[in-house]
Amino acid sequence: MKILVINCGSSSIKYKLIDMEEEEIIARGILERIGEKNSWQIHFLMGRKIKIEGKIINHKKGLKDLLSIITDNDKGVIKDLSQISAVGHRVVHGGEKFLQPTLIDDKVIETIRRLIPLAPLHNPPNLAGIEAACSLLPQTPQVAVFDTTFHQSLPPRAFLYGLPYNYYEKYRVRRYGFHGTSHRYVSQRAAYLMGIPLKKLKMITCHLGNGCSITAVKGGKSIDTSMGFTPLEGLVMGTRCGDLDPALVLWLIGKIGLSTYELQDILNTKSGLLGISGVSNDVRDLQKESKAGNYLASLALDVFTYRIKKYIGAYTAVLGGLDSLVFTGGIGENEPEIRKDICSGLGFLGIDLDEDKNKKPDNHIISKDNSKVKILVIPTDEEIMIARETQRIIQEKEICR
Ligand code: ADP
Repeated sequence: MKILVINCGSSSIKYKLIDMEEEEIIARGILERIGEKNSWQIHFLMGRKIKIEGKIINHKKGLKDLLSIITDNDKGVIKDLSQISAVGHRVVHGGEKFLQPTLIDDKVIETIRRLIPLAPLHNPPNLAGIEAACSLLPQTPQVAVFDTTFHQSLPPRAFLYGLPYNYYEKYRVRRYGFHGTSHRYVSQRAAYLMGIPLKKLKMITCHLGNGCSITAVKGGKSIDTSMGFTPLEGLVMGTRCGDLDPALVLWLIGKIGLSTYELQDILNTKSGLLGISGVSNDVRDLQKESKAGNYLASLALDVFTYRIKKYIGAYTAVLGGLDSLVFTGGIGENEPEIRKDICSGLGFLGIDLDEDKNKKPDNHIISKDNSKVKILVIPTDEEIMIARETQRIIQEKEICR
């Protein structure tokens, strides 16, 4: 069975075509700057790289291009579109409506559309991808896999804010949490690598990329997570501020006279590592600057790791103990210095990093052999998780080809 996984951003489409028998990626690619003059697309078809430049007017045209390239007589990897058994779509916000990945029909599309106010930047391009795929592959089952679903197991004490309860009842104001597909994937993989059933494990998973979030996972279920009503809450990120005193937002509006639009832009795109350092949102740049003596670059990294350490303490308390700590995402996977700073001083929780293994995490486990908590580095793979969920849903519904 071959499953096409699609992840649409506002001006991009990322995709993977996966043969589920061996979970082999037979095609993957990215189409960028959709809607702009200088769009481009890169495809890897059974490893063969193809780059195409030229305007892609919208997501539908982009998807049409990618479907024709993967079925191309000469370069393609499948004979025709009927070989795609299903399409799995990443959808960022499923609100409280979707407790499971869901087979897409008109009603589901309408519900995702109604959730746009909760994710104005993400759900519209996700929907554009769904609508394009439904029209170009009308006979193929389409499944929506939501970033929020994994966190629907949060108990009310973890998802409610200290606000009047009717805001929750009326407007669904609550913590939703994001990066759920990644947290789910790495928690399952960590249990597999540890050789212990997921059901028996208390785990903290750290997804540290441009966006960063941390989740407490008990018995395979998310019981608390740092991102909230939007993906702005929690950890300090590349350009996002993370946790703030809410009164500060009001103060900034009153004192500096910022409009809500300006403030939204500052909190989302000019804060975090970039905002503190004034240099870059990229950890690699900050490390270089820090080594060259740039105080603000060092400070930005210090604030970043301190916040993560604080959440690890909080979530260990929430879990009532800890068996494993997992790092993933561009930073979590590639930055030994950051992992070391996060773990330093946490020996009292049983978190003992092995510095050599941390430098070369080939076998995933980077804790000392006698560390009570296993520390793991696991490359995330949201696409394979979406493909597995898509396969599960169409098999359950018995609509596989
Ligand atoms: P996104 O949230 O956009 O998917 P990534 O998971 O790709 O982000 O993470 C980007 C971050 O990972 C950047 O801060 C970058 O500094 C950091 N990083 C460190 N080393 C690497 C590396 N070898 N490859 C990619 N990103 C890296």
